[in-house]
Amino acid sequence: MHVARNAKEYKMKILLSVVILFLSVAPAQAALKVFTCEPEWAALVQELGGTQVTVASATTALQDPHHIEARPSLIAKTRQADLLVCTGAGLEAGWLPPLLRTAGNPKVQPGQPGYFEAASAAALLEVQTRADRAEGDVHPGGNPHLHLDARNIMRVAEQLATRLKQIDPANAAHYAARRADFARRWQTALARWEREAAPLKGMPVVYHHRSWVYLAHWLGLKEVGVLEPKPGLPPTAAHLTQLLTQLKGQPARAIVRSAYEDGRADAWLSERAQIPALVLPYTVGAEGADDLFKLFDITIARLKEPVLSPSTVLRIGQSKEATR
Ligand SMILES: [Zn+2]
Repeated sequence: MHVARNAKEYKMKILLSVVILFLSVAPAQAALKVFTCEPEWAALVQELGGTQVTVASATTALQDPHHIEARPSLIAKTRQADLLVCTGAGLEAGWLPPLLRTAGNPKVQPGQPGYFEAASAAALLEVQTRADRAEGDVHPGGNPHLHLDARNIMRVAEQLATRLKQIDPANAAHYAARRADFARRWQTALARWEREAAPLKGMPVVYHHRSWVYLAHWLGLKEVGVLEPKPGLPPTAAHLTQLLTQLKGQPARAIVRSAYEDGRADAWLSERAQIPALVLPYTVGAEGADDLFKLFDITIARLKEPVLSPSTVLRIGQSKEATR
């Protein structure tokens, strides 16, 4: 009896395994394999491709996209990809070229339909002349953090949807429908974000890294300082001291950094200048930003905290002053 039941269970298990295997293999065979350099583009590809794509990102929201290691798993994913979606503008200059070389996938090499750069869809800010370039500067081709102007997401979406259709013409109607649906939802959200962010116009902020230039350009934030002396160079004691002196004469409402950045310099300056240090998601996958919509919902809500409750910030400042 016991043996018989075991045999029955065994058969059942085999059957289940076959079903699971079929379910997991079937869509993967049909879907376009897309590999992205950053999570924001993986989220966008998922919006535009739906069930017709399988997406993976080389970096997470807790990794610095300027610097990652080309691990074997990344090489394998690049080798299998039908489409590679990256920011460009030099953001991945330190790791993508060797990754592409090692993977040796002809479909996703620069210039091929399987290679897509978001920077080609948006106007870049802070484009430098050769003479401006400093050693260690990680933005030699202009500022690459273009996804934080939500209007750029739509610009990239338009071109990305066209590219998906080009690579996978059999599903052209599917991509067209998803593109239209995304555009409708994004335009509605854009109007709401711009309304919600109206009180942020002119708000003086200090950046950790120049990740917030496009967000500031879009919402009208005013940059009054940057913790990094040059993009990509860690904050130095001399630079922070100078910034502290400057902030005493020209105060800021917040010091902002990405979830992946070390917050020690921010905390140092926050305490001394009595300015709140904020952690923003920067991309999809951190601080509760599960998708592109939440990324901007959370970013705007968090930036408004010091605006909505200046008395709280002031009280913290006063109590600290009183204990000295
Ligand atoms: Zn950067």
